[in-house]
Amino acid sequence: MRELDEVKEELLFITNLLFKNGLLTTTGGNISSRIGNKIVITPSGASNALLWQMTSKDLVVLDLEGKVLEGDSPSIETPFHIVVYHNLAEANAVIHSHSPLLCVFAKLGIGISENMYVREATLKDIPIIPFAKPGKELADVISNVLKNLEFDSKFGKLFLLESHGVLSIGKNLRQAYSTLDLGNQMALTKMLEKLLLKK
Ligand SMILES: [Zn+2]
Repeated sequence: MRELDEVKEELLFITNLLFKNGLLTTTGGNISSRIGNKIVITPSGASNALLWQMTSKDLVVLDLEGKVLEGDSPSIETPFHIVVYHNLAEANAVIHSHSPLLCVFAKLGIGISENMYVREATLKDIPIIPFAKPGKELADVISNVLKNLEFDSKFGKLFLLESHGVLSIGKNLRQAYSTLDLGNQMALTKMLEKLLLKK
């Protein structure tokens, strides 16, 4: 099994990549990965206080029930990360972000399924999860959605969170990243298509 330190390094690498590419902003978000019976997650304040500039010492390690084993306060959205790992045995990474473009689709409730994008088949649809307050309320709504989800670990899974942001789930952090990136590209294609076709 991979070492905890390795997962922490990968999480920092993915966070930097997300931030650098505008998929993660200082308005919020949280990233986690499961390793064995532990979860590594970004701390509370990672976005607005730390501006995503973290070292491995800033990351928080939890058990699968959310008890802190290492570090200070975990992200406020820890409950829904735990819900993902409890419901989907093959999911080992969760990225929640307020990616600006996907946030627009999430706010307007526009689906991103009808698209010409070449890798569309890997993301057949991007469901919208109804709005719920951050924390336990949102975790409960996500839990209900995941109960009926068949997670295919060949592909990641992406959801829009109504009037809030986006949730990407993967078998590992790289897959969760590329799934989010693909969803963002699909949204961009769809937006441009609509603009160009407009008379
Ligand atoms: Zn959020």
